[in-house]
Amino acid sequence: MKTLLAHNPIWELELLCADQVHRHALDRVGGAPWGLPLEAWPDCGSCKEPLTFIGQWQHAEGRLDLGGAGTVLYSFLCANTETMMECHMHAVEPGGDVIARVVLVENAVVTPTLHPKLEARPGASVVVKGWTEEAESALLSPAPTTRIGGRPAWIQDPYFQPQDDPWRYRCVAQWTPEVVLAHQRIQSEPAFLELEDERTRTDARVLERTITLGHGTALVRTLGKRCGAIDGAFFNTTPEGGTRLSTPLESGVLSLLVDERSGEFCLQYFGR
Ligand SMILES: [Zn+2]
Repeated sequence: MKTLLAHNPIWELELLCADQVHRHALDRVGGAPWGLPLEAWPDCGSCKEPLTFIGQWQHAEGRLDLGGAGTVLYSFLCANTETMMECHMHAVEPGGDVIARVVLVENAVVTPTLHPKLEARPGASVVVKGWTEEAESALLSPAPTTRIGGRPAWIQDPYFQPQDDPWRYRCVAQWTPEVVLAHQRIQSEPAFLELEDERTRTDARVLERTITLGHGTALVRTLGKRCGAIDGAFFNTTPEGGTRLSTPLESGVLSLLVDERSGEFCLQYFGR
């Protein structure tokens, strides 16, 4: 029976990273892209606005082959709410790049890139502080998580199984709307508890404040004991005791594919 190796990230909220190595990770989701030259930031082929950065993966032997060490792959998707219907009407056929684009950068430098046309402050980002590997049976349903490898969620889609060449597209990685942090670190931060106390005392429904958290500042809105938003990214607690943080993807699954004919990467977005 054929098995596929899935590479599952262990996430850490960037603001809370104690380890500098993790804070400067080139495997990350949300916030600002790290190491991307500004001139390489792609625009939407439909609305012409800058695309929203979703996440990035770096080359790693045995996990993701980008041709060599120092190369980083960036994924972008149109999240323009004013033109969403129109933009998403464009069929994102395999190899097409209307509203979802992938950018490869060699020798990426470890600094964040901000786009002058987008919000000055990007949302919260999570970085990879480690990986777990898991062999997956082809009979099991694919896991709906952000990761590299494993069974893809797109396999039943007819776009990726063209009749003349059903295995032309190979799924390499996927991004989903949420990532789960292993611990309730957000809620355990004293600043959050303070906000929560204040909320209870004043009976305010929503408290909004810029606070110092870990190594930086964050705009935090508390919406209740178990949920809130940090730099615009919604979070809540999971039944298992982790923190579930929303990503810039908002909905659907963004899949990274390789076109086996051309050898090039392309993205496919399945909206919900
Ligand atoms: Zn667009």
